[in-house]
Amino acid sequence: MADMLELGWEEWLALPKLGLPAIKAKVDTGARTSALHAEVIETFGKPESPQVRFLIQPDPERPKLEIVCTAPVVDRRDVTSSNGQTELRYVIAAEMQIGRERRTIEITLTNRETMSYRMLLGRSAFGEKTVVSPDKSFVQPRLSYDLYDTIKPRRPASRPLRIALLTREPDNYSSRRLLDSARSRGHIIEPINTSRCYMKIEAKAPEVHYDGKTLPSYDAVIPRIGASMTSYGMAVLRQFEGTGAWCLNPPASIGASRDKLLAHQLLSQAGIAMPVTAFANSPKDTKDLVGLVGSGPVVLKLLESTQGRGVVLAETKKAAESLVDAFRGLDANFLVQEFVKEAAGADVRCLVIGGRVVAAMKRQAQEGEFRSNLHRGGQATAITLSPGEKKIAVAAAKRLGLNLAGVDILQSKAGPVVLEVNSSPGLEGIEAATDKDVAGTVVRLIEQRVRTLSRKR
Ligand code: ADP
Ligand code: MG
Repeated sequence: MADMLELGWEEWLALPKLGLPAIKAKVDTGARTSALHAEVIETFGKPESPQVRFLIQPDPERPKLEIVCTAPVVDRRDVTSSNGQTELRYVIAAEMQIGRERRTIEITLTNRETMSYRMLLGRSAFGEKTVVSPDKSFVQPRLSYDLYDTIKPRRPASRPLRIALLTREPDNYSSRRLLDSARSRGHIIEPINTSRCYMKIEAKAPEVHYDGKTLPSYDAVIPRIGASMTSYGMAVLRQFEGTGAWCLNPPASIGASRDKLLAHQLLSQAGIAMPVTAFANSPKDTKDLVGLVGSGPVVLKLLESTQGRGVVLAETKKAAESLVDAFRGLDANFLVQEFVKEAAGADVRCLVIGGRVVAAMKRQAQEGEFRSNLHRGGQATAITLSPGEKKIAVAAAKRLGLNLAGVDILQSKAGPVVLEVNSSPGLEGIEAATDKDVAGTVVRLIEQRVRTLSRKR
C-alpha cells in the first residue's frame, strides 16, 4: 500500500505551473472531470497550439487576491454540472501536486464564484493508485492561503479594447458614429463585412476568416446585422462568441427580435403589454383569425417587415379577410393585430442601452399615413417618457436579452404597448432628434462589460 494515495473528501493541493501554490479542493467521486474556478477567460496562441489566460481568486475569503494563470488548451467540451446545467468549457492540462504525488491532470474551467470550493477534483484525476475515504478530510498535508502573500502581484496595465463592428455598411451614419466614438476613446475598432466572413468550426480553436486571413480575437463585437442577413449573421456572431468575444447583442437575442411572432410570445410571457395579436397557419381559419383581434380595424404585418414596408391597415372586417386571403395566396407569413387608433399615426422609439433608456423620440406619420417609420416620411421629435413607458421599454429589451435595443411603443388608451423591439436600431434619427451621444454610450457600455486581464475595471 506504500504508493497508494489516500484522499479525504476535501484536500489541499497545488497547481505549480499555474502559479497556484495552494487550493482547497472538494474531492468528488461523482464527477468525472476536475473543475477549477476561472473568470475572464481569454484565448491566445497559434491555432495549432491554443492557450488560455484566466483569472482566479484562489481564496474564497479574499476576493481581492487575484491570480492570472496561463495554460495550454487540450479540448473544449460540453460539461454538465451537478445542477444539471450544460456548459461549453475549455479543458486545460495542468500539473497537480498533492502530498508527495505529482501528476498531470485535465481540468475544465468554469465560474465557481458561488461555490465554497474553488476546485473540484473528479475521478479522472485520481488514477489507479488512489483511494478515496469519504468520511475523512485533509488526509494529505494541509497548505495555507498565506503562501500567496509571497507572490508579487502583477500590476495590470491598461490596454485599449479590440472591437469588431459587424456590418455590411461601414459608411452609413450609425457605423461611422460607432467607429469614431470607439476610436476617440482610444480603442481599436474594425468594420467587418458580415457577408464576407467565413468560418472554421472547431471546438478547441474556433476561427473566423476574412479576406484570406484568420481574424484576431476581439474583446467585443458590435453586431449591425441587416434583416436579409439574419441567419448567416447570427452564425458569424456565434462564431465570434466562440472565440471569446463579448457580443453587444447575443445572436439568439437578435434572432428572437427579428422573428415578430417569437418576440410577441416572449414579451407577452413576461407580462409586457402589446396590441392584441393573432396568427394562424391554415387558410381555413381566416374569418376566425380576424375576429380574434376584435371587431374594429386591424393591421396586417408580414413577419419579416422592416421600415413599415410590410404593414397594411384594413378598415373593415371584410377588407381584413380579403387581405388575409391575398397574403395567403402569396404564401406570406404574417400576423393580424388590433389597430391602436388613438396612437394617431405616432409611435415612440426608446433607445435602451445596458438596461437604461438613454434617448427617446416620438415619430409622427405623414398626413394620411398611419405608419410612423422615418423611412415612410415620419417626423421625429425628442420626448420625455412617462415612468410607465420607461419601465416597459427596459423590460422588453431585458426579456429579449438585448444590451442595445430600439423599443417601439404605441400610446394606447390602456397605457403604453410595445409594438416591436429592434436589435440594430439606427442612430441617425434618434441622435438628431434628441442631441444625445448614443454611439458614445454604446462604447462606454462595452468598456464596462468587457473585462480584460490586463486592464483594471
Ligand atoms: P416594421 O417592422 O415594418 O417597422 P411595425 O410593426 O413597426 O413594422 O409597424 C410600422 C408602423 O406602423 C409603426 O411604427 C406604427 O406607427 C404603425 N403601426 C404598427 N402596428 C400598429 C397598430 N397595431 N396600431 C397602430 N399603428 C400601428
Ligand atoms: Mg417598426
